[in-house]
Amino acid sequence: MIVLEGIKKTYENKKGRFEALKTIDLTIKKGEIFGFVGYSGAGKSTLLRLINGLELPSQGTVTIDNKELSDLSKRAIRKERQSIGMIFQHFNLLWSRTVLENIMFPLEIANVTKEKRIKKAKELIELVGLSDKENAYPSQLSGGEKQRVGIARALANDPKVLLSDEATSALDPQTTDEVLKLLEKINKELNVTIILITHEMEVVRKICHRVAVMDSGEIVEEGPVLDVFKQP
Ligand code: ADP
Ligand code: ADP
Repeated sequence: MIVLEGIKKTYENKKGRFEALKTIDLTIKKGEIFGFVGYSGAGKSTLLRLINGLELPSQGTVTIDNKELSDLSKRAIRKERQSIGMIFQHFNLLWSRTVLENIMFPLEIANVTKEKRIKKAKELIELVGLSDKENAYPSQLSGGEKQRVGIARALANDPKVLLSDEATSALDPQTTDEVLKLLEKINKELNVTIILITHEMEVVRKICHRVAVMDSGEIVEEGPVLDVFKQP
């Protein structure tokens, strides 16, 4: 469902040209949990920004459900982006708003009526297991709880795809496991394709179906997790 073909991404600045991505070809299937691993600077975040249409490739095409992003208008890309949820390492919550209000926020932007916003946000709060924290502020929550809010907010517009940028990197191992279990449940029950980037091999081993190992802007290995991380 997500096809990356002949992707290159070059950044130009005062110091010259820098090839952040060199020839990426990859297909991510519907319903898959796909992981990108690699050291800092490998190009993982750049690739994620191309998938959610925040940036366009210098060469090549990104096609999501048969729609090529570079063919779309800015407005159509913004619409397309509503069908992609995103979660972050530092949660990116609004600190002056409650859990319920944070989750309602993307629905406000999408012009959903207040009644429907509240109904949807409450369903999502239940899904992520935070029913008793609905009126709490982010500062009153643990790291794991904050990420649950981030996940619920990312699901507000019923996305087909959820992108995760180091979503468990700020969490302890036990909390990481809980968040990974929640992501697996979302993948299975809501049939959401999950694409995650991480520097933690354990995260990939635990939930990914397939993985691409990135280094210096290239995919150096790719396949089912069990094949790529085969014990010698
Ligand atoms: P990763 O997510 O794997 O750590 P990134 O995709 O963030 O890697 O970065 C890949 C490379 O591209 C890095 O060397 C980074 O400095 C460079 N880069 C990323 N964004 C920009 C930009 N907007 N301008 C110039 N260079 C950039
Ligand atoms: P609002 O737009 O609801 O008024 P704020 O102005 O309180 O939200 O926060 C804007 C952003 O600043 C938040 O998304 C959050 O990332 C960051 N931020 C605000 N307060 C804090 C804090 N106490 N600790 C860390 N980050 C904060």
